[in-house]
Amino acid sequence: MVRKEPLERWSIEKSAELYNIRNWSAGYFDINAKGEVIYQYRTKQGLVQVSLMDIIRGIRARGMSFPVLLRISNILDSQISLLHESFRKAIHAFGYKGNYRGVFPIKVNQQQQVLEEISEFGSRYHHGFEAGSKAELLAALAFIKDPEALIICNGYKDSEFIDLGLYATKLGYRCIFVIEMPSEADLILERSRLLQVEPWIGVRIKLASKASGHWTESGGDRSIFGLSLPEVVELVDKLKQEGALSWLRLLHYHVGSQIPNIRDIRSAVQEATRVYTGLVTEGAPMGFVDFGGGLAVDYDGSQTNYHSSRNYTVEEYCADIIETVMSVVDEQNIEHPTIVTESGRFIVAYYSVLIFNILDVTRFTPALPPEKLPDGVNELTQNLFETYQKLSVKNLQESINDAIYYRDQIRDLFKHGDISLRERALAENIFWNIVSQVSEKSRGMKKIPVEIEGIEVALSDIYYGNFSVFQSLPDTWAIDQVFPVMPLHRLDTMPSREAIISDITCDSDGKLDHFIDPHGEKLTLPLHELRGEEEYYVGVFLVGAYQETLGDLHNLLGDTNVVTICVHEDGSYNFVSEIEGDSVADVLSYVEYDIKYIRRRFREMAEQAVSENRITVQERASILKALEDGLDGYTYYEKD
Ligand SMILES: *Cc1c(COP(=O)(O)O)cnc(C)c1O
Repeated sequence: MVRKEPLERWSIEKSAELYNIRNWSAGYFDINAKGEVIYQYRTKQGLVQVSLMDIIRGIRARGMSFPVLLRISNILDSQISLLHESFRKAIHAFGYKGNYRGVFPIKVNQQQQVLEEISEFGSRYHHGFEAGSKAELLAALAFIKDPEALIICNGYKDSEFIDLGLYATKLGYRCIFVIEMPSEADLILERSRLLQVEPWIGVRIKLASKASGHWTESGGDRSIFGLSLPEVVELVDKLKQEGALSWLRLLHYHVGSQIPNIRDIRSAVQEATRVYTGLVTEGAPMGFVDFGGGLAVDYDGSQTNYHSSRNYTVEEYCADIIETVMSVVDEQNIEHPTIVTESGRFIVAYYSVLIFNILDVTRFTPALPPEKLPDGVNELTQNLFETYQKLSVKNLQESINDAIYYRDQIRDLFKHGDISLRERALAENIFWNIVSQVSEKSRGMKKIPVEIEGIEVALSDIYYGNFSVFQSLPDTWAIDQVFPVMPLHRLDTMPSREAIISDITCDSDGKLDHFIDPHGEKLTLPLHELRGEEEYYVGVFLVGAYQETLGDLHNLLGDTNVVTICVHEDGSYNFVSEIEGDSVADVLSYVEYDIKYIRRRFREMAEQAVSENRITVQERASILKALEDGLDGYTYYEKD
């Protein structure tokens, strides 16, 4: 559908506003004078900027196909610094006497490269990991080199999990076992005695304070875990009895991810700190209070308590935590604890951009109806045609009502065999001409007839993107998450179409049809007209958190290629790593196909065709070559 814009000159400023980039990008992304999206960061010398289109050209020159998940290492580094520096400032400002320690919850992005980088960039701040399973604990142990970094062991723990953590403790890692269920305590006590290790343990509590936002109930948080306060008291009694109260070091809670409202954060911190002081009073050494995740990302740039935003900055988040903890512990004359948070989303979301090319577009433009109706058409069709001819700005509402009425009547007639296929097609065509006229004429009007709200969507173009929602953006499908989406170039010219983006899975859920908007969400996205053979690239931003691990093999589309770059202070950059996505053979073997069997079957069929003279031996060779290329190929659409 054509976008209507006043005929002033288009500018990159207008694009910046249209896509709201300066509000959601946290300063990492902007648009350059050429109309291309850039990544930027500030150094002492000034601003370093790299065009994503340059990076795309570099990716193509290396022979990689799209879609590509682009990771920009510098951003991960910056986010880790930002979190720690914000806590450092708040600690300084309030004269807080404890420390801050961050841990990264591995479930938020489990890719090896991400863990490696977090461990590297985080080492100057002793940044640790949160592990929710045996496998995650093994991953944490593999990448932590710093004995001061914490490893928080959450999740359901069996004796293997516990033994692994106890051995790690012996080796000098700072593991803390968080008791999430009353039954875990006995097992930890038993295994510790057996292996003769004095573990550090924590306790996860259920809070009365609840957070709003749609990730808090879904989104995979482990809110079924945690001890109620009576259970906490029972645990303390048990530890006392066993002479193990001195092992109790940490209090933990996690109410959910992406908490948009700072009030909810403050009230949870306050409640938990009260429990903390209670445990100190009971005689536990404690020393650590762990507020879990929840630090939100402003996906839509609205800075509100809407679920895809947040009404606070990271500085306010840190200041509120420090101030609240301090006021509670000072009141009880208790030593200031080390504050731990398990921020995942905030650390990794900004760091990845999904980049895909557009393969094709379909437009909804009904052919014009004939000037005159053929003889002998039904009266209802004549009425519909008249409605079309009389349509004007003054009768939009009435026209659309009439059109819907006549169309439905005509559909009924067709069902009963009273009109022909051709007449029905004619009537539908007239109907859609009325709809698109009404939509066009109502643009810019103050009061839009209710019947045509949402018509924009029916009339919008469909841009086919070379990616899979299920593989690369599972939360858009699972929990209606919206991410910022925009073209990566041509932003110095006006995007003249309104579109939704469909992926290549042929599934009606495989599409992007909700987009960020400062006033809620919108249903179509402005995009540029495609120009001949020229590629058109679209980026989905802030996809570093939670999107990579839930991916499923819908239509057997596998992992995308991943390219990681590091930008230097002189504006140059290098490709730190390139990870090839899944090949067709990889994906088939994940779902337990036997590739050898597929090869053999093909070969036999080809051989039989040769023996029956249906194909030549040369053709047989070509067919088998095509099979091999197919198995080795990328699961996404590859241009030759
Ligand atoms: C998922 C999870 C987190 C991460 O939360 P974010 O909002 O992504 O920072 C932290 N802690 C626990 C226990 C979790 O389950």
